[in-house]
Amino acid sequence: MPIATVNPATGETVETFEAMDEDELERRLELAEATFRTYRTSAFAERARLLHRAADLLDADQDSIARTMTTEMGKPLAQARAEAGKCAKAMRWYADHAEELLADEEPAEQDVKDSGASRVRVRYRPIGPVLAVMPWNFPLWQVVRFAAPALMAGNVGLLKHASNVPQTALYLEDLFHRAGFPQGCFQTLLIGSGAVDEVLRDERVRAATLTGSEPAGRAVAATAGEMIKKTVLELGGSDPYVVMPSADIDRAARTAVTARVQNNGQSCIAAKRFIVHTDVYDAFAERFVAGMAALRTGDPMDEGTDVGPLASEQGRADLEELVDDAQRSGAQVLCGGQRPEGPGWFYPPTVLAGIHRDMRIHREEAFGPVATLYRAGDLDEAVLIANDSPFGLSSNVWTRDEAEMDRFVQDLEAGGVFVNGMTASHPAFPFGGVKRSGYGRELSGHGIREFCNITTVWQG
Ligand code: NAP
Repeated sequence: MPIATVNPATGETVETFEAMDEDELERRLELAEATFRTYRTSAFAERARLLHRAADLLDADQDSIARTMTTEMGKPLAQARAEAGKCAKAMRWYADHAEELLADEEPAEQDVKDSGASRVRVRYRPIGPVLAVMPWNFPLWQVVRFAAPALMAGNVGLLKHASNVPQTALYLEDLFHRAGFPQGCFQTLLIGSGAVDEVLRDERVRAATLTGSEPAGRAVAATAGEMIKKTVLELGGSDPYVVMPSADIDRAARTAVTARVQNNGQSCIAAKRFIVHTDVYDAFAERFVAGMAALRTGDPMDEGTDVGPLASEQGRADLEELVDDAQRSGAQVLCGGQRPEGPGWFYPPTVLAGIHRDMRIHREEAFGPVATLYRAGDLDEAVLIANDSPFGLSSNVWTRDEAEMDRFVQDLEAGGVFVNGMTASHPAFPFGGVKRSGYGRELSGHGIREFCNITTVWQG
């Protein structure tokens, strides 16, 4: 895949970039290691000052970087602005909380005595240069949710961004540089995915985090395993959205539309499988389909657009194949289902009903604005359908019954259970999945500690 900005709303190639050669990569790896040697000893207050400055600069750049993101991957402009704002917020949150999150811990007095020590502390020390392999769908946010904690922990970052968002990737390096971080604290490596293996094998790279598809995660984790390097994987999702009879059906249906089509439907934590109790199935389906059909699809730069194009031609072809496969096996198309004529990689909001287990869309991730509807006879069946997926990223349930809530929280196989709302990430809450959605956590104290050397300091 060439490293290039290709506008998905038109299919036009805006700018292409040369991949960095071996010499440039070597220079950057050397700089990362050299910078880490000194940056690791910097004070939290100094790191926080720089990160606050980066947040202020990002706020000032909000409109221009939002336009760059929309040009590169097609998200509606208002959502791109919101993404930039969310990144600044996460930077400030880590700037303000990292010192407390990484404060030394003292084990219980009894245990210290039992070990024969006079004092024991647990210290969170930085680990070194971390490679971040990132996707295009939230081209700023995915990187910042790694970079903000990494920089506050005293690590340095090497970004290998998706090949279709090079301008956003270069912007990020420039942003941290302008904020005053020492050169080498955060570098963008303009390389294709074929060059990741070599970088990961380099001894100077201590760990890796990858957000992306299952094949990419598998490749990076395999090499990291061979090299005995820590990884965090944030992979795909096919989150369930369960609606029970006690729910506020109007609100559940309205939120379902946003939960499915946010970011043109290309979000790992988008609700994708809508599992509705039979007693409220018709009422929910009617409102949900009407909401999906009423969305405006079009130019993502236009403020009135709800759904822009998919990010790539291949992405649209993959989605179409899932829909065609389901239709061939008897699924009913309640709205959408046909790509429009004309330039750009547009696909309409689509709802499919009559889904069963042997359809590909039941097992695979639909990365675009396509929802599947399931009818469940009772809570047990709803849980069964929800868990009948290789993924386990997050989940959504709508009920006003406390006992039902408890059952879902206990039984859903996912890294999040959002009750009467849609899944969204927040810097203070852990984020990540189970099963083939990956492992490890980002955000919160759990995220910042993933790439720390958790050191026992024992004094006799
Ligand atoms: P992708 O094709 O896996 O690409 C992600 C990144 O991995 C890109 O930088 C890509 O580089 C690189 N890559 C691809 N194959 C690789 C390989 N064999 N070895 C090393 N690096 C490799 O995924 P995407 O299409 O950009 O993103 C969509 C996927 O990401 C969806 O499955 C979505 O659910 C998932 N996602 C997960 C989360 C989460 O937090 N769990 C968040 C967002 C997205 P190139 O661009 O150069 O190929």
